[in-house]
This record gives sequence, C-alpha cells and structure tokens, in this order.
Amino acid sequence: MTVIAWKDRIKDNTCIPSQLRVNRDRVNPFVNRQKSMTDYFDSLPTMESHYCRASSSKKYLQTDWKTKMDLYKFYVSDWCKSHLTQPLSKTTFCEFMSSRNLCLFRPKKDECEICARYKAGTMEEHDYQLHVLKKEEARKEKQTDKANNSLVFTVDLQAVLMAPKSNVSTLYYKTKLQVHNLCFYNNISKDGYCFVWNETEGGLNADEFASIWTYFIEKKILPKVENKTDIRIIIYSDGCGYQNRNVTMSNALLNMAVKNKITIEQKYLEVGHTQMEVDAMHSLIERRMRNRIINVPADYVQIIESARNNPFDVKYLEHTFFKDFRNISSYKSIRPGRSSGDPKVTDIRALMYSSSGEISYKLRFEEPWMLLPQRKSPFSAKSFEEMQNLHQTRLKIKARKYDDLQQIKEVLPADFREFYNNLPHD
Ligand SMILES: [Zn+2]
Repeated sequence: MTVIAWKDRIKDNTCIPSQLRVNRDRVNPFVNRQKSMTDYFDSLPTMESHYCRASSSKKYLQTDWKTKMDLYKFYVSDWCKSHLTQPLSKTTFCEFMSSRNLCLFRPKKDECEICARYKAGTMEEHDYQLHVLKKEEARKEKQTDKANNSLVFTVDLQAVLMAPKSNVSTLYYKTKLQVHNLCFYNNISKDGYCFVWNETEGGLNADEFASIWTYFIEKKILPKVENKTDIRIIIYSDGCGYQNRNVTMSNALLNMAVKNKITIEQKYLEVGHTQMEVDAMHSLIERRMRNRIINVPADYVQIIESARNNPFDVKYLEHTFFKDFRNISSYKSIRPGRSSGDPKVTDIRALMYSSSGEISYKLRFEEPWMLLPQRKSPFSAKSFEEMQNLHQTRLKIKARKYDDLQQIKEVLPADFREFYNNLPHD
C-alpha cells in the first residue's frame, strides 16, 4: 500500500486550490464533482458522540482536523488528487456540510447559545439578564472559594482522543479507537491529575465518572491532606447530566463524605460559560500532542504526563478499575422539587454532601443551603476497594471499527499489532 503524508503535500502548496488543481487533461470529464465530494464525506468515519455540548441533531466526523479549512485542504490535496477530480469551492464544501448537519468534533466552550440568541434578537431580555447574573454569581463564587479554601478543583473531560494517530493519509478514512481523558485541576496547588481509558476498558456513563471521582478523592487527595479535621473538598464542573449532575454521582459523593467524614461540595458553572482552569491542562496536552505519533492508546500517557514541566499525575485505567454504584444508593433522586412546576435537576447550582449522610442543594449561589426534599434510605458507606466491579470483561467494539483497525495496524510497527488483534469486538 502506498501511503503519503498529506501534511507534507500541503506544506509545498501555500495556495491550495490553484496550486493543487489537477491537470485538466488528466481529469475524467464524466466524474461528477458533486458526487465525488459526497463520496468524500461518505468515506470519512463519523462518531457516536455522548459528549456534553454535542448536539443530537448533528453528525460528527471523527477527524483530527481542527478547522473546516483543514478538512477542505485534505479534500483538495488527498481526495481530489487521488480521484482525479477538480475540487469544488470552499463555499460549496461548507454549504454541503451544513446541509447534511455534518460537524467537526470540537465541542467548543467559547460559543454560548443563549448569548448568541440574545444578540440575534431571539431571546427575551429578562431571560438573558438572568443568564448574565448567574454567570457572574458563579465567577464570584469560585473566586471566594479559592480565597477561603485549600481544596478547590475544576474537572472536565478532554475532547475525545483517537488511537492510532499518525500522518498517514489513508488512516483518515478509517474508524479508530476512542480514548478518554478526564482531568482534575487543583486551583490552589496547581497540581493536575488525568484519568485515561480507551473505549474497550470503560464507557462514558455515570458509573465510570463516579468511579474516577471516588478514586480521585480517596486515593489522590485525602492522603495528601495534612490537617485532617473539617476537610472540605469543592469541585467545579459544567452541569453535564451524565458526567456531573446525576443521582449516581451524588450517591457516590455522599458515600465518600460519610466514609471519610468529610464535606464535599459540587458546584456547576453557568451553561455556555464553563471556561475554567482545567481547560489549560487540555490546551497544554493538545499542544504536546501536535505531530506526535500514537500507536496504541497507552502512548497518550507519556505525552500527557510531559505536557507541563511540573508533570501531570496520569492514571491509565483498565476495565477492572470501574465500580458498580447500584448498591451505593441512598437517595433515589436529586430533584429539588416533588411536583410539576417545581425546580428540576438542571436548576441545581450546587450540591453539598455531609458526613452525616445528607445532601443539601442551592438553586442560586447566593442562597443558603437547603436539604434535598427526597427520601433517603440507610446505606453502609464503602471504600473504593470494597465496591463491586462494573465490568466483568472488556467492552466490545463494533465490527466495522474492528475491521478498520485491522487494516490500520498493517501500517504500524509490528510490535503494536498484537494490541489490535486482541480487541474484543462484535
Ligand atoms: Zn451566555
């Protein structure tokens, strides 16, 4: 198989469309350019996306491209050249993408839908003002917490990583293995912690996130705390339901609070304005990843560790790491109201877990804590080791992904092929 690095091709052509234009004599006049572009998009793998900020109406391309321009350059330099077709214009290309609801998978934090709608005049003044106020309150709350506490963290999942990753152009048309990286940042000490796993070891469900948070608090944070009285851990995140704001996570944190006799506070930033300190970790890691070859998922560990001079603490997770939280259940729901019209889970701004086994909540940071009006049943608090495993075996990937990876592995150094041979699959 002949493989050519597309980045090298692009480097030689500063003005892509004109310089890469295929010699007209060689172009097959019968090839429909529109159809060729459609084929190009059909050949790019899309990904199932459970990520927060991902819209369900959109289809996400599994790509390593950061911008539409990069994707267009690849279309011109790789697809059109190898298929001997003249490229369509960038405008037509982008129009086609939006008509098909196709997006690059970059869940951006810098676009607030509410603010955008207000600017476009489709948002009520009152709703917008409330949004701005809540955003301000969250910012102030974090500042105050940082000034008065020693254990204040921000947490977020990095945008999905892929394995393998290289500059071999044929790889861009193949489905790859997804790799996840959940990062915690200590806003006071500046320490960074990463938990990395690939999709055959665990998914992106509440139990997986609750497992990592539990382990993080019990194994990474508490042993380091010098003054063991009155420990209060405050963790900021976005309000993503399956990751951060759900009953599984709440029961897991309540269990931690009771077991270790500590207080834990979870605080949610205003939707659309979830930029936080942990994002800097993602940026450093992305910078370090640039032009790096990834043969197997574990290759990310060293890259992430070394993304900063003061190394990040990275733990690479296997399926046996994750715990099943079905038996760690005190509250049945974290809804702050009981009847229709009452506040909903998405209205919660903050949750507090006490060592006495209670959950309190706030709908606004300025308000006092209120006890969650939900029934709770007694439970016996467990340490991380005492919990049952979530996965008995590794998780299967789809047949198409497995087949693609079997082809991809042929261009990898022989030492890495065994990993791909052993992937569990349908
Ligand atoms: Zn906004």
